[in-house]
Amino acid sequence: MEKRNTCCLTFDDGPDPVWTPRVLDCLAAHGARSTFFVMAGHANHHAGLIERMHGEGHDVELHCVRHVRHSELDESALREDTEQGLRTLRGLGAGVRRWRPPWGVVTDATRRVAADHDLEVICWNVDTEDWRGDSATRMHARLAPGIGAGSVVLLHDGLGPGARRSGCSQTVELIPLLIETLSARDVHAIPLSESTA
Ligand SMILES: [Zn+2]
Repeated sequence: MEKRNTCCLTFDDGPDPVWTPRVLDCLAAHGARSTFFVMAGHANHHAGLIERMHGEGHDVELHCVRHVRHSELDESALREDTEQGLRTLRGLGAGVRRWRPPWGVVTDATRRVAADHDLEVICWNVDTEDWRGDSATRMHARLAPGIGAGSVVLLHDGLGPGARRSGCSQTVELIPLLIETLSARDVHAIPLSESTA
């Protein structure tokens, strides 16, 4: 079988009871599956959304418990945060293998903790900067020239610290625009767990 060109749409800072269901609806409507880097506390409060992510073929991976730059945590605090997050997510049935540290800040301690827990640290190579609050059409115009096979796209299905918007509606509207552009380039959005890149 010919291998299709693939990319990954990834979502941070959820699950959010309002926005995550809309993101999931949108992905399902367009036949795309994704990777969610979730906040463990939110996941615990919205376990039904974690179940839905699994049921619909998405990856559930670790973002954090506390949304703090690793450069601002000592190693024991970082280790404690990560272990607490892993316990929570594994308790919800997530076989976590990947980790996206808050803000994408990766330190030597991040690498040591990741190695100890057999976690792959994942950042991104396309940033929607959707937290800024730009319209979907504006974000799409900026992103379209650069997305394609091998893109790991950062989006948010929740409102993390620093978000300059009151909701994720423009992220929801951006998803079909991105998928359309990718399809035109024969690129299919798949979860990171299925990516061989
Ligand atoms: Zn985040």
